[in-house]
Amino acid sequence: MYVRGIRTLFPFRGYVVSRITMSADLVQVNLRRDKRFRLVCPGCGGTMGRSRTKLQTARDLPLGTAMLVVLVYEAIQGRCSTCGGYATIHPPGIDPHAKATRRLKEFVSRLARSMPLLHIRDVVGVDDVTAMRWDKAVLIDKLPQPDLDNLRLLLIDEKSVRKRHGYVTLVMNGATGELLHMAEGKKKASLQSFFDKLSDEQKKRIVAVAIDRNGAYYEVVREQLPEADIVFDKFHLIANYHAVIDEVRRAEWRKAHAEDKAVIKGQRYNLFRNPWNRTAKQTRDLMALLHVNRNLAIVYILKDALRKLWTYQRRKWAAKYLAKWCRWAAVSGVEALRHFARSLLRAKEEILNFCKHRITLGPLEAFNNVVSRIIHRACGVRDLDYLFLKLRQESLAPDLPT
Ligand SMILES: [Zn+2]
Repeated sequence: MYVRGIRTLFPFRGYVVSRITMSADLVQVNLRRDKRFRLVCPGCGGTMGRSRTKLQTARDLPLGTAMLVVLVYEAIQGRCSTCGGYATIHPPGIDPHAKATRRLKEFVSRLARSMPLLHIRDVVGVDDVTAMRWDKAVLIDKLPQPDLDNLRLLLIDEKSVRKRHGYVTLVMNGATGELLHMAEGKKKASLQSFFDKLSDEQKKRIVAVAIDRNGAYYEVVREQLPEADIVFDKFHLIANYHAVIDEVRRAEWRKAHAEDKAVIKGQRYNLFRNPWNRTAKQTRDLMALLHVNRNLAIVYILKDALRKLWTYQRRKWAAKYLAKWCRWAAVSGVEALRHFARSLLRAKEEILNFCKHRITLGPLEAFNNVVSRIIHRACGVRDLDYLFLKLRQESLAPDLPT
């Protein structure tokens, strides 16, 4: 068999290709040790003596039509003449425990970024459990440790990852988008474990933290970062307001006469939709509703008015506007609205802090798609460490190589 050209495809230092046997779906490559290279002790770098050899195999990248490529080589057991330690030597780039080359594991890891683990079998004949194990090992090896220096802005939120295990707490660098921390649960302890990793020096550099007003993180952040500003997330506040609209809509429906009930019915999403997302008919229906129902008209108008709060550049003007909005709510006569306005006034500092730092949990919200995509590709993730590595990978280099 003529193998000279093909040898360059199997560059394992200290070994040479001695034979290649091929069929359409199987390639076997025999490697022989090149005696010109000395055996190096993996412990101390000294020279190893050779005592025993053992034939071993390792899977390698597919070649041509052959999905299965097997390297056959001699593993050498020996004792080091310098440190006296025993070791088994394999060609570099082969992982003897996985019985595979590192480049095959890296290839599988690249595939796992863009296709479901179950489909990898069709491309390289590696089952999903192995693919996940290899992908995890490659990520542990390749991804840098979270950069905890020079943190200025933090985004913290909970995410639902699956039905059985429920929630995880995620912490992201608000300036770079790097995902720094993930822990099971949405309680204080899930966030405390992040701050435990930071030195006092690192904590002092953090100037602002965005969180959901209703979450469990406020106290931990206050306690750990007494100097930092807390910013209540704009999107969560708007979602809270949507809940108010819903409450008023249900109350109005209960009170309404039969003919007005027909107008209120089926308008839930019309009340939430932005004008540019409504069809002409949806707009007509909504206008009819606002015409017959005073309270719904008020909460609807105040919805757009509330969003305006986050357009102010200066804190002073935003504060004036917030006070004005809360006065409108107070005189509206709609109790749910007054209740909501009082809660805003209590959180005034944290809401107005937005003007100074202009951070939201938007970048973490956008991560919802990534979370569900990864969970889908892994057919549900049982291993939270793996999920964290996958999310970190996406956060560090969000542009998929195609
Ligand atoms: Zn040694």
